[in-house]
Amino acid sequence: MELVVATKNKKKLKEIKEILEKLNLKITSLADYPQPPRIIENGRTFKANAIKKAVKIAHFTQKLTLGEDSGLEVDALGGKPGVYSSRFSGKDKNDLKNNLKILRLLEGLPLEKRRAHYYCAVALADKDGLVAVTEGKCSGRIGFALKGKLGFGYDPLFIIPKYKKTFAELGPRIKHQMSHRYKALTKINKILATYQRINPSAD
Ligand code: IMP
Repeated sequence: MELVVATKNKKKLKEIKEILEKLNLKITSLADYPQPPRIIENGRTFKANAIKKAVKIAHFTQKLTLGEDSGLEVDALGGKPGVYSSRFSGKDKNDLKNNLKILRLLEGLPLEKRRAHYYCAVALADKDGLVAVTEGKCSGRIGFALKGKLGFGYDPLFIIPKYKKTFAELGPRIKHQMSHRYKALTKINKILATYQRINPSAD
């Protein structure tokens, strides 16, 4: 069975493939479908954006589709950047600029006041509409400098207290045991297995 992942983000796609690798699925993405419809991520929640991505792309491809939306919420910033995580530093955004903006805003705060949480919402849809939605959360602290080269986005800043290291230092083996994405996808794994059983001829 084919599962279209409604993303153009290569690093996110790589993580999703790694986490879902045990399922017998042919995983494709928007890169395999020319001229997909443009999706404006204007939902107020990760869940709303994930549903929008999944339903719109499933309608376009007529295939089982997974939409994912995720981001970082920093307690000391009242939950920012939240759904604006990827574009936190504005129009010419990139991961480094986003990370430096967080560091600037948290300047002077001690580690115990640098609590942050990654959230991930995953929606599954087929040609008939929404099938299921799941969510995952992973809590940590924002470090004082960028550390590590692995992962993407805010990973060089995101410290896992248990290891006293960032996700960018810890790498995929540990990240995929505890991340927000891992938790949301593990729940969707079970739903996918049931879906495959009920719809054996769906591709
Ligand atoms: P979107 O879901 O494509 O709107 O973007 C999610 C954004 O949240 C990414 O561009 C990152 O900035 C951030 N983000 C989400 N998940 C992760 C993660 O696992 N590591 C680091 N940053 C993440």
